[in-house]
Amino acid sequence: MEKQRRVMLKLSGEALAGEKKTGFDEEVVKDVARQVKLSVDQGVQVAIVIGGGNFWRGRSSNAIDRPKADQIGMLATVMNCIYVSEIFRTTGMKTEIFTPFACSTFTKLFSKDAANEALAQGKVVFFAGGTGHPYFSTDTGVVLRAIEMEADVILLAKAIDGVYDSDPAKNPDAVKYDTVTIKEVVDKRLAVIDMTASIMCMENHMPLAVFGLNEENSIANALNGKITGTHVTA
Ligand code: UDP
Repeated sequence: MEKQRRVMLKLSGEALAGEKKTGFDEEVVKDVARQVKLSVDQGVQVAIVIGGGNFWRGRSSNAIDRPKADQIGMLATVMNCIYVSEIFRTTGMKTEIFTPFACSTFTKLFSKDAANEALAQGKVVFFAGGTGHPYFSTDTGVVLRAIEMEADVILLAKAIDGVYDSDPAKNPDAVKYDTVTIKEVVDKRLAVIDMTASIMCMENHMPLAVFGLNEENSIANALNGKITGTHVTA
């Protein structure tokens, strides 16, 4: 039997908030659900990691201890996954949320075996709570889980439509890459994912693809292997 395509999709927390920049925008999340369902119905195995920036970032506050601030950030990603998972269910998709720490009955404790089983059952799997450790990010979380789960590729849905050689907001002559190696991303410190996550991709040969979240059907296209943004090869 042909091996099923398995992809990890990373959404930033802000992506869920739409124009409001904080909390949830139901219409935005419903459109993400519609697009993911198109791929799931075609047999693509989809796992999702969501950031927490629509609620909280560990570095948001200097008033409290950083590990505690990071715990709030990790819990923000759990809230995001519960919301998105429930919206997905309204469209008929089956879902499962895994966390690296116990959240009572809200989520299941992550294990590769349990996540593999859920994906094999056609469920969309959410990896919430990042790595479970402070000083990390959902960038490192998504790379870690992609490597562990032997995903084919990590898809990064971003506000920007690909990887550029410099910041297009500051440099009108910035050039977008169709393809770039992860080594170049590391050497030139290109803004794709944070440095720790980039190095993990490089060492474990995990490819990425970056595309614009706001382009019509970009998530559905990316899940099916059609990338209009940038391929980051490993
Ligand atoms: N976070 C963490 N460890 C992880 C993942 C996330 O401590 O493994 C915390 C951290 O405080 C972070 C917040 O959760 O700021 C939200 O995650 P996200 O990746 O969206 O944050 P960003 O990289 O934008 O700070």
